[in-house]
Formats: sequence, structure tokens, C-alpha cells
Amino acid sequence: MNTNIFEFARPEVPPLPPYNAGLSSEVVRARYRVERVARLASNENPYGASPAVAKALSGLAPDVGNYPDAQCTALRAAIADRFYVEPSQIVVGNGSEDILRMLCLAFLSSGERVLTQRPAFGLHEIYPRMMGAQVEMVSLTPELGFDVDSWCAALACGPKLAMIANPSNPVGCMFDADAFVRLLDAASPSTLLVIDEAYWEYAQREDGFPDALALLRGRRQPWMVLRTFSKAWGLAGLRVGYGIASDSELIQIVDRVRTPFNVNRAAQSGALAAWGDEAHMDRAVTETIRCREVLRAGVHRLGLSVAPSAANFLFIDLGRSNGPVHEALLARGIIIKPWKDEGYESFIRVSVGTPDDNEHFLAALREVLGKAD
Ligand SMILES: *Cc1c(COP(=O)(O)O)cnc(C)c1O
Repeated sequence: MNTNIFEFARPEVPPLPPYNAGLSSEVVRARYRVERVARLASNENPYGASPAVAKALSGLAPDVGNYPDAQCTALRAAIADRFYVEPSQIVVGNGSEDILRMLCLAFLSSGERVLTQRPAFGLHEIYPRMMGAQVEMVSLTPELGFDVDSWCAALACGPKLAMIANPSNPVGCMFDADAFVRLLDAASPSTLLVIDEAYWEYAQREDGFPDALALLRGRRQPWMVLRTFSKAWGLAGLRVGYGIASDSELIQIVDRVRTPFNVNRAAQSGALAAWGDEAHMDRAVTETIRCREVLRAGVHRLGLSVAPSAANFLFIDLGRSNGPVHEALLARGIIIKPWKDEGYESFIRVSVGTPDDNEHFLAALREVLGKAD
């Protein structure tokens, strides 16, 4: 090939960082010759999906030759029913990341401004940059919480789109209802508010966590609330997320850039089956929150500071460069996510696993930190 493909691509594309999806259990097992692997890097639900999902999937083979329902009719109806919205206000994605991408494709032109938090969920920055948008990032407070004043000031300047993860990934902090209302009051009516609630099922259990749908209803600006089946519902491997929008016109626009069959048959059936067994999800969330607090106490005992978390992970300050600790943990079969953003190179994000995984992590971390730097 004689073409310099990096110059041939749209200029926005070559500088994009590749998404850091982490190592798989298989790779870690093979590379480090460890038997036991604790996968604590992707905020998955260690208890897995409802048994109803396996049952639904096992009946699918005769239908794999037929395209799935392009409109996700049954799943959208089930979601609409639960939240008292119209099915026409709902879009389903191949994961909620698919919807983040559709929103950027549909609404962002080169040079337009997008507001998000720093450190951010990677795709909240990468997809806007893919479109040539300018990404502005609001810093955290020294206590590793959202800086509500700075957010309000930045929202008042009228960015085209705001990516608001509540609770935050990777930090775990949240806007409570008062802070959330302040954001909405400060926001310009010409800003599309994207409220990414990937950890909603966990955060809902926190005192003061806002009912975003209720608070957004009737607001002047366009908005979309994103949720996912990947975390609390245990379906990360099937890829299903959904968005609830201010109105059906917004969905009609997003539909123009949606891949027609973006949610496959297994994903639609699995999500519907999971949705029908909410008790299973609830038990996993209860257990995860209990384990999170045990893990937090263990990390504190090691003398480390931890950000507040309303989700299923902890953002931990190691007080030293995270790179060598990450490597040493991998060698012990523990996969966590070291943060790379400037100013956060001493932080790791650890998903709350089973009690066994969490103990394994704490014991390994104690050992690794005990060694001379
Ligand atoms: C995990 C996560 C997502 C992506 O979820 P999928 O539905 O699996 O695509 C989106 N936003 C945030 C903040 C997340 O942490």
C-alpha cells in the first residue's frame, strides 16, 4: 500500500486514543501462568444474569436465520411501561455506548462544544472528538466529588451537548437531587443534556440520588437518559442499553443514524427475560453494595484514600504511580484499571467482585504495597 492511511483518514480520527478495554481473563491466565483470575476491571456483575436469560437464549437457534426486530418493539414496550413514558421516546442500542455514538453522529458538527467531566468515561470524550467537537472538561473537587459550581458555570455557556455521568465513572461520585436541579436550572435551553446512568440500579439505593426522569420532564432543553443492561443486569456480553428521550422527535433523529438491526435477536430476548426477573438483579445489587463497603473498609485499613462511590466500583488513590502496581496485581491474577489521565496516574478503579475476589484483591494489594517502591 502506497497511501499514507493516517493522512488519508479524516483528520479527527488518527489522534483518537484507542479505547482501553483491558485484558481478558484468558490472556492474563496464559501470560502470567496463574490459575485464578479476578476480573475487577470492567464493572461487570459477578453474579451474572438471571437464569431466565439462559432459558430464553437456549430457544433461539431456530430463528438465527431471520433478522431481528429492527424496532425492538417488545423491549421498548416493556421499558416504556416501567417508566411511564411512550415507546416512541425510547431507543435501544448495542450497549449504551452505541447510543452515545448515535447522539454524537446526529448532533455534533466540527467545532461545536461538548462538556463533560475529568476524569471522564472514555467514550464521553472519544465520540465527540471523532466528530471534530471541542471537548471541555470540568475538574473534580479536591474531595473527589463533582464541582457543582463549575458545572453550572460551564453549562450556562451553552455547549451543544453535555455528557453527564451520574454517578461518575471512573470516580463513583454523584450529583444529588439538589445539585442535579441546580444543573438543570443553569443549563442553556440550547444544550442537549445526556444523563448517563449506567449505574442507576446501584445509585438509586443512595439517599438523595435524583429521579432524573421526573426532574427532566417538562424542561425546556432536549435530553436523553441512558441506562444499560451491562452492569446490574449482568448482560455485558449481549450488548443492550437504552435511552429515554425528552420527546419522540429526538428519537426520530437518532434513528436516522442508527444501524437498522443494531440490537440482535439474542440481545433482545435476553434483555426482555432479564427485565422480567427484577428480583434477581435486586439481590445482586444488594450484595454488591454490601461488599463495596467491606472493600472500602479494607482499602482504608491499607491507609489509602478512596473516592465516594454510588456505583459498583471504587476509585482508589495509591499515593504512587499506578503502573507497577497494576503489573504486580496482574502477575497475581488480578485485573483492575489503572487511570492514565494526567493528575490521576496514582489512581486505580476496582470493580466490586465476589467476596472471594475482593479478599484476593486486598491481600494482593497489601503484599504489593508492602514491597519497596
Ligand atoms: C459501562 C458504561 C457504559 C457502557 O455500557 P454498555 O451499555 O455496555 O455500552 C456507558 N457509560 C458509562 C458511564 C459506563 O460506565
